[in-house]
Amino acid sequence: KTRTWFTLNLINPKSFGDDLEKVKAMAAVRADGSFLRPYDPLFPSVAAYWSACVNNPLWREHSATVFRGMGEADWDGCHIDYASHYEPCFCAHCEERWKAFAAAHGLAAMALREVPSDVRHGLVLREFRIRCVMDFLALCRDSARAVRPGFAIDGTWHQDSGSVYQWAYGDHFDLMCIEGTTWGPFPPESQQILWLKLAHAMTARQVAMSVTYHLITEDGERRHGRMAPDRARLALCEILSQGAVSWIGLGGPKTGNLLREHAEMVRQVTRTAAALEPQLAAREEMAEVGIVFSARSFLLSGAARRQLFAVGQALMRSHVTFQIHSDVGLTAERLGRCPGTVLLDATALTPEAGEALTGYVAAGGRLFVLGATPRYTPDWQDLAAPPDVLQAPPGKSGVATRTIGGRTVWYRLGGSDAGSRLGAAQNVVLNQAAPAPLAIEGESKALNVSGSPDSDYALYVDITYQDGSNLWGQVATFATRTHDWEFSRFLIQPEKPVRSANVHVLFRNHSGTAWFRKVRFGVWDPERQEIVQNRLGDGLTPRGGKAYAAGEGQDAALGTWGPYADGFEVEEIAGEGPTIKVTSDTAQLEVTPMHEPDAGLSQGVIKLLEPILPTPRLLTVEGSGASSVFVDVSACPGGVLLQFLNYNAELRPDLPELEQQKLERALPVEGLRVTLAPRDGRRLGRLRLKVPGEADADLTTDGQSFALPRLGVYAAVVAEWR
Ligand SMILES: [Zn+2]
Repeated sequence: KTRTWFTLNLINPKSFGDDLEKVKAMAAVRADGSFLRPYDPLFPSVAAYWSACVNNPLWREHSATVFRGMGEADWDGCHIDYASHYEPCFCAHCEERWKAFAAAHGLAAMALREVPSDVRHGLVLREFRIRCVMDFLALCRDSARAVRPGFAIDGTWHQDSGSVYQWAYGDHFDLMCIEGTTWGPFPPESQQILWLKLAHAMTARQVAMSVTYHLITEDGERRHGRMAPDRARLALCEILSQGAVSWIGLGGPKTGNLLREHAEMVRQVTRTAAALEPQLAAREEMAEVGIVFSARSFLLSGAARRQLFAVGQALMRSHVTFQIHSDVGLTAERLGRCPGTVLLDATALTPEAGEALTGYVAAGGRLFVLGATPRYTPDWQDLAAPPDVLQAPPGKSGVATRTIGGRTVWYRLGGSDAGSRLGAAQNVVLNQAAPAPLAIEGESKALNVSGSPDSDYALYVDITYQDGSNLWGQVATFATRTHDWEFSRFLIQPEKPVRSANVHVLFRNHSGTAWFRKVRFGVWDPERQEIVQNRLGDGLTPRGGKAYAAGEGQDAALGTWGPYADGFEVEEIAGEGPTIKVTSDTAQLEVTPMHEPDAGLSQGVIKLLEPILPTPRLLTVEGSGASSVFVDVSACPGGVLLQFLNYNAELRPDLPELEQQKLERALPVEGLRVTLAPRDGRRLGRLRLKVPGEADADLTTDGQSFALPRLGVYAAVVAEWR
C-alpha cells in the first residue's frame, strides 16, 4: 500500500449520493456567480464532475476525513492530482480569506471581483490563490500524519510558475510529480536535466519525480504511453542520473504502459541505478557556474524559464559544469561554491539574494546579470533602488560592465521591447461568391505586456480576394499591461468576394506574456450579431512542442494553429483547457534541440558568458560527437561520479508516428577523450565504468584523462581520487 490517489478539487457527485445541493455547497464559484466546472482534455469524462473550492469548510472537512482514512488504512502516501489548479473562485469563503491576505500585504479592503489589474494587485492575488492551494495540501498531509506519522504526499507539477512557487516556498510536499520535464518533446530532442536540477535547487529536502508520457495520435485519437525504446531509455537514465524518481508507466485512457513495454530496459537501468545508490545519494555537484533562479520573478513572466534552458543547454553541450540556486534563502556562502554566477530574470528577486550577490561580488565572485534587474519589493511595490551590484549601466543592447569596489560585474542589456516575433497562424479558405461581412473575435489575458495597444498584440487577419488582390491587417486588439481574459472583436467589410484569409494570433515588439483562447473567425450575421459559422479549428501545434488535438465541443474538423515566426507555447492548466501562450523576454535567447546542436547558438551563449567562465575548465570532452554529450560531474565520498548522457540520435519526423516509434534510435558516440582537472590538483585513481545491461569494466587513466571507447545512451564512471 504505497500510494493512493486524490484529486485536489474534483467533486464526483456520486461520492455524495448525487445530492446536488450538497455538491453545490462545496463548489467553486465564478465571478458571475455561476459554478466552475472542471475540464481535462485527456479525460473528457470529468465534465460530469464539479470543482470544489479549497477554502470551502465542507470540502476541507471532507478531504481531511478522506486523508485520515488513508492513514488508518495504512497507506504510505497519496498522489494529489490537480495540485497546480489555482482556480479563480469568488465564493464567500475565498472573500473572507482574501480580506485577511490583502490586509497582511498592505492592500485596502476590496472584494475579489473588484481587484484592479495592476502588477501589485494582480500578483498579490496570484500569490493568494497559490497559497490557498498550498494550505489545503498541508491540511491533507497533516490529517493523514495525525494517524500515520511519515505519511507522504506528492502533487502534480506542470512546468508552470505557480508550481515552481509552491516548490520554492512550500514544505507541504514530499515528492513533486512533474508532468512535462522538458522544453519541447522528450529526449533526445530536449532534455529533463535542467528541470530536475531546478526542482532539487528549489528545495533541500524533497525529491523530484518525472512523469514520462508521450502522446501519439493513432486512428485520429490521442493516446499516451508509447515511446521508441532508445527515447525511453534516455528519459529514464536522465531521471535516475539526477537522483529523481520516475513514474514512467502512466495509466490513462487507451494507454500503453512504458514499464511493461520496455520491461527489460527498465530492469537494466534500475539495476545500474541501484548499484550507484551510494554515489547518487551523497553526490554534490562540482560546478563552475551557479545559475540563480527566482521563483517570484517567474510568476511575473516566463523569461526565467527560457533563460534557464538557453543558458543551461549551452553549458551542457560545452561541458561547463553548473548548478542551479533558488533565490529563496540564498547566501553568499552558497554562491561562493562557484567562481562564476549567472543571474536569470530578477524582476522580483528576494532581498536576501540581493545581499548574497553583493557579498559574492565583494569576495571576488564573477557575476553576470543576464535577465532583468530587480523592480519589485516582496509585496510587489516598486523598489526604490536595487542593490548596487544589480544596477545595470545605461544602454540599449550588448554587454556592459561596471566596477564595484574594485570588482567587475557584467550585464546583458535588454534594450527596448523590439525584437519579439511570436504567434500562431491558420489559413482559412472561404471561396465567397459574393462579398459578405466577416468577423474576427477572441479572448486574451495579459501579464506585464509592455507598450500601448496596437496591431502587434492582436488577432490579425490578411484577406485575399477572389481576384488575387489583398486587404491587409484587419485587427482586433487588446489592452496591454496586466489583465484577465478580455474579449475583442473586429468586423471586416470586404469590398469583393473573398477567396481565403490568413488568421494570426500576434505578439510582436512587446515584452511580457499573453494568452489567447476562443478565437473565432467567419461570416458575420448583422441580425444575430454573431459569427454564424466559425472557420477556425482549435488544434494546437506549437513549434518543437507536443501537438494538441481539438477537444470535445471544439472545432475539431477544421484547421490547426501552427507557429507564426518564433511560434507559441501551449499552457494546459487551471481547468481552462489548452491555451496559446506567448512570452517575450526583452532580448531573446534561443533554445535549440539537444540532438542537433546548433554550434552557432550554443557558442553565442558561451561567448556571452565567457568573462565569468573559469580557465582552465574542470572538464574537457573531446572527440567527434562530443557536443551532443552531457557530462554530469559530482563529488561523492572518496571520489567523483561522472555520468554521460548522449543525445545523438537518428529521428524520423518525416514518418507517421507509429513508424517513428519503430525506427528512431540513438547513435553511439565513439572515442571520447575525457579530462578532469580539479582546481585543487587532485588526480584520478581507479575508474569503474557502469553501463546498464553490461558488465562493469575498468578504465585506464593517466591521472587526468581517460578514453571512453563507446558511449550508447548512458554510462557512469565512478572514479576514486588517487
Ligand atoms: Zn472559494
